[in-house]
Amino acid sequence: MAHAFDVVVIGGGPGGYIAAIRCAQLGMKTACIDDWTNAAGGPAPGGTCTNVGCIPSKALLQSSENFEQAAHHFADHGIGVGELQLDLKKMLARKDTVVKQNNDGIQYLFKKNKIAFFHGRGAFARTVDGGYELAVTGASSETLTAKHVIVATGSSPRQLPGAAFDEDRILSNDGALRIPAVPKTLGVVGSGVIGLEMGSVWRRLGAEVTILEALPSLLPMADEAVAKEALKVFTRQGLKLQFGVRINDVKTTKKGVTVAYTDAKGQAASLDVERLIVSIGRVPHTAGLNPEAVGLRLDDRGAIVVDDECRTNLKGVWAVGDVVRGPMLAHKAEEEGVAVAERIAGQHGHVDFNTIPWVIYTSPEIAWVGQTEAQLKAAGRAVKTGHFPFMANGRARALGDTTGFVKFIADAKTDEILGVHVIGPFASELIAEAVVAMSFKASAEDIARICHAHPSLSEATKEAALAVDKRTLNL
Ligand SMILES: Cc1cc2nc3c(=O)[nH]c(=O)nc-3n(C[C@H](O)[C@H](O)[C@H](O)COP(=O)(O)OP(=O)(O)OC[C@H]3O[C@@H](n4cnc5c(N)ncnc54)[C@H](O)[C@@H]3O)c2cc1C
Repeated sequence: MAHAFDVVVIGGGPGGYIAAIRCAQLGMKTACIDDWTNAAGGPAPGGTCTNVGCIPSKALLQSSENFEQAAHHFADHGIGVGELQLDLKKMLARKDTVVKQNNDGIQYLFKKNKIAFFHGRGAFARTVDGGYELAVTGASSETLTAKHVIVATGSSPRQLPGAAFDEDRILSNDGALRIPAVPKTLGVVGSGVIGLEMGSVWRRLGAEVTILEALPSLLPMADEAVAKEALKVFTRQGLKLQFGVRINDVKTTKKGVTVAYTDAKGQAASLDVERLIVSIGRVPHTAGLNPEAVGLRLDDRGAIVVDDECRTNLKGVWAVGDVVRGPMLAHKAEEEGVAVAERIAGQHGHVDFNTIPWVIYTSPEIAWVGQTEAQLKAAGRAVKTGHFPFMANGRARALGDTTGFVKFIADAKTDEILGVHVIGPFASELIAEAVVAMSFKASAEDIARICHAHPSLSEATKEAALAVDKRTLNL
């Protein structure tokens, strides 16, 4: 007999599990189906984010940063560590423990909120009176019915044509997070967020990293000043970045991988590396969902078509996260999940797409919210900008990390903040103030008038806001 629910969520990543929790909290009988399986064959809810994305990458970024600090920067503080050793096995095991703590935390939250969890693949079976029938294929086969379905099936890594992931030599983000020994040479195709983060991890641990990028410049989606500074710093750190390349052929050999490409000058070139990470973007994931059974509409990218409120073409079917339009970010997926749950409950769920922050967890970190100066100028908007370097910030000097700056962009007439761009220490944390400010439509002067603790990196935010009106306290 079918199990009947008010809401069934397909996918247990940050879009899906948060949606399920919010639905249950709002009094709906809720189930979540997720097929992620851990090494022991058991369920591992949390999706890409928890298992092979945000969480494990940040665990390895922290471990590798600690290693780099000990190797190159502790001495500046008068700390000697003798001969530095790397226990990569332990570092990877620690990362796996962090992942498991998150998997377990989600399962705990499902129980606490009385959400029925099904470990397996969920697929649309047919439309039924008042809703949908879904088939679960996994440890056991189940049939569920739901008045509402939230699809949160996420995304998968895009492959290079002719170079399928084997997770040994040619690695997706999954293999990139579990290379068993530090390679002497590592190639990365794609200098986006994932390529830069993974390249940084393995460079800090000792690999010679070459990044090949098809676009003519680094981070075109970031503010130009930030991208310029990032290129300078990453190059100084030893990342070898090449732009404007066209990959022609990728071959695995006994020793590693050979990449044949055409460089920016049109010359034929090749790169021999022990391993190759391919990080050229992600594609919406709907394999196995059987959308045809109910007529669920996808676009030509394979994304589920939704309106601004995450409604699909079918009554009662919603979709959130990486499987729909918009930035592929965990917090965007979560916001959409909560908003959809509230809409199903008859409330007014809301996502402000203008204030979704972006973060790159390299060192220095890069974070921004709102628009870049170039985007605003292209839109014909008159703007004024303020800039403050961490070099002039007391806390940054005490930390020993004075790279980068904060840049404010405000409307020339109204002073409303239109974009804030940070490259520097703890940019991921600093950006939250700018997100709050923009969510409340604050002006640069509002930030300039708020008391910021001394000494703190956030004083650089205040100074950048002051600089919009050509003032400075130089805290
Ligand atoms: C290396 C890396 C680092 C990242 N770092 C960050 C970061 O720092 N910050 C950030 O915001 N974002 C980051 N991201 C992006 C982030 O992981 C995604 O945006 C986020 O996971 C999307 O959430 P989601 O719920 O839409 O999908 P997912 O997290 O992909 O979850 C989808 C889940 O649904 C399951 N599923 C799919 N189809 C079915 C089916 N038919 N039946 C049952 N289950 C199914 C999948 O197995 C998966 O468990 C990173 C991504 C990668 C790869």
